[in-house]
Amino acid sequence: MTEAFHILKVALDVPLDRVFDYSTDRMDAKIGQYVVVPFGPRKMVGVVVGIANQSTIEAKKLKSIIRLDDEIIFDEASFKLFQFCSQYYHYPLGQTILSAVPSRLKQTDKKAMAKKYLYRLTPKAIQLGVDHLSLRQTILKRIVMALIDATLLDEASLRSISPTWKKAMETLDGMGWIEKEEVKLEDARDLTKATIPSLNEDQQAAFDAILKTKDRFHPWLLFGITGSGKTEVYIRLIEESLKKENAQVLVLVPEINLTPQLESRFRSRFQKFSLVTLHSHLTDNERLTHWRLAKGGKAHIVIGTRLSVFTPMPHLSLIIIDEEHDASFKQQEGLRYHARDVAIFRAKSENIPIVMGTATPSLETWFNALHTKDVKKFGFLKLTSRAVEASKLPNIQCIDIAKSNTIKGFSPYLIEAMRDRLTKQEQSLIFINRRGFAPVLLCASCQWTGRCHRCSSRLVVHLNQKRLRCHHCGHDEKMPLQCPSCGNTDLYPTGLGTQRIEETLKEFFPEARILRVDRDSTRTKEALNDLFLNMKNRKIDILIGTQMLSKGHDFPQLSLVGVLDTDQALYSPDFRASERLFSQLMQVSGRAGRSHIKGEVYIQTAFPNHPLFAALKTHDYEHFAHELLKERELAELTPFAFLVLLKGEAHQLTHVMQFLNDAMEKARSLSNQVTVYHPVRPIMERLKGMERAQLVLQATSRGALQKLLDDWVPYLRENKLGQKVKWVVDVDPIEF
Ligand code: ADP
Ligand code: ZN
Ligand code: ZN
Repeated sequence: MTEAFHILKVALDVPLDRVFDYSTDRMDAKIGQYVVVPFGPRKMVGVVVGIANQSTIEAKKLKSIIRLDDEIIFDEASFKLFQFCSQYYHYPLGQTILSAVPSRLKQTDKKAMAKKYLYRLTPKAIQLGVDHLSLRQTILKRIVMALIDATLLDEASLRSISPTWKKAMETLDGMGWIEKEEVKLEDARDLTKATIPSLNEDQQAAFDAILKTKDRFHPWLLFGITGSGKTEVYIRLIEESLKKENAQVLVLVPEINLTPQLESRFRSRFQKFSLVTLHSHLTDNERLTHWRLAKGGKAHIVIGTRLSVFTPMPHLSLIIIDEEHDASFKQQEGLRYHARDVAIFRAKSENIPIVMGTATPSLETWFNALHTKDVKKFGFLKLTSRAVEASKLPNIQCIDIAKSNTIKGFSPYLIEAMRDRLTKQEQSLIFINRRGFAPVLLCASCQWTGRCHRCSSRLVVHLNQKRLRCHHCGHDEKMPLQCPSCGNTDLYPTGLGTQRIEETLKEFFPEARILRVDRDSTRTKEALNDLFLNMKNRKIDILIGTQMLSKGHDFPQLSLVGVLDTDQALYSPDFRASERLFSQLMQVSGRAGRSHIKGEVYIQTAFPNHPLFAALKTHDYEHFAHELLKERELAELTPFAFLVLLKGEAHQLTHVMQFLNDAMEKARSLSNQVTVYHPVRPIMERLKGMERAQLVLQATSRGALQKLLDDWVPYLRENKLGQKVKWVVDVDPIEF
């Protein structure tokens, strides 16, 4: 009898779209196990994706594995998902799988897991409150305020408040302020009683409709403005799902929305179930623990950001995607997947319903829910008003900056409105669009502006530090005293940066408590948490910020939103810019007047008659989407066509162009159903010293496009020109 051995087909984290054969005498090897194998001079971690008796490789060249892990890291359902992603996004299978499993696993580390706790305040602490703490105990205050807010927090949430949370918790414990309990997954926990509202008519109708499809694949769009009670509907649906024994539910949310408040809302409503989160603020170990709980079927609810769409869940029975339109669901590097699309595929292959909630659906989803010519693909459900009786939609107005004499970027109307809020002790938010509005240094006599020599971007003035910085590559230099071009000393910053706005507002309102939030001032999540708590506790009068403020949080005392400078997005070369702007402005408007105070929104613009604003004023996403769809249809753009972007960059432009031109010729030769455009430079022509260009493929048939890619991508991989050019293929790109 010959010695028994297996051939393992191993997928590795290498940019080659193939699997590798290795031999083993481990007859118990299974698909989904990790292996360590020799690869060239190195050892590499890979996964078993197939087992065979024979190999096409000569026996003497066949290497054997070094080690096999017992844990099976994906099941059949996940494997199907990986295969789909690898094929659809044209990304090697090994890299697809290895980018979708927790990184801790790859090191095949087997450290024992520490005990986990949940923390809450004691009645004593609640009675004494933060004011009992001394001024200097800022971390303690932060933690106490967050615990008041969320009732119960886990270690990951506490860590996101401060890296020194452990010490702070010891102090609080010493004061008798803290109670902790071990996380026991099957235990019922006794949290404060959550009030459970009865569903309103719209909510009930949505709930009933979705419930009818609870045992099969059906995508649903749950369309409703912020505060219309979407989350409440999700919660009811999850409750219903979990009635089935062992059932599991996956809830996908944008990173910024995964707040301690949301987590605690879910925890308090699902006390009998185990809930885990998966997001980037977890340590690798926590991520691994949570992921294993999901994979083992022990976690009933998984709330996570985009990557969690790949979490193996053996009894998955419902998927929910909150803020379906959010751009953070699209991964912009490596495996360029869109978590929403992957989730839909997953729901389909597991034959379960998927609910996508949003106030401003992506046009793709909107189209699928309403406008598909042949069949309606998604169910459409609408929540028409805010769930809480007293909270009304804000009043939105445009201020024509061409007609109003702005002072340092502010129209007198806006200033007056802010003054009014100050007297009424209400809060204002001044919102600016982050992109392109940072201040640059300008020479008054020759119009010279500071430019980055590595990127095609202008250097941003950081007045306080007296430095010029490139926000794309991080290049940083001293602010010149003289114009490098003409020697003139009359250099001044122009453009509205958050810093300048802050200074201007301080001049207008010396008595106001103003806080600026941007990348510089709020680098850490703890600072951001502070800010939210300070807003809640009325320690801030005016908040200045960028899109990071536009969602996720309730500020009950905020009644005015001023929007500066959005006009660039109205006429951007990126066809999605107006869609994004609309949803952003809807979101930021939603910040105003979420309790009993009626909110007002002022938008300063040179184009007050733009249809986007007309739709915004009446909170009419539907009309806006309708108009936008007409434009897209004429231009044959998404969702009427499918797009693929090939992006290339190299030190020399000629290399990129050669590569792209060759790619264009090849693509044209492969299909006549796909339009292949000429290579063009993107808006950002040069980045970090690399010259960039890209070309677009467009087709009305997804099948034809995919068929072309099946031949084209391997061709690109083989192409010698590709050695000098870094390139990526982006299927269904969302940014150009
Ligand atoms: P969304 O997810 O659409 O922003 P939420 O579900 O968070 O909306 O609801 C907004 C607020 O209204 C929450 O405070 C929630 O508790 C409350 N709410 C939701 N549904 C109802 C209802 N049927 N009756 C009373 N309050 C409700
Ligand atoms: Zn000059
Ligand atoms: Zn740069």
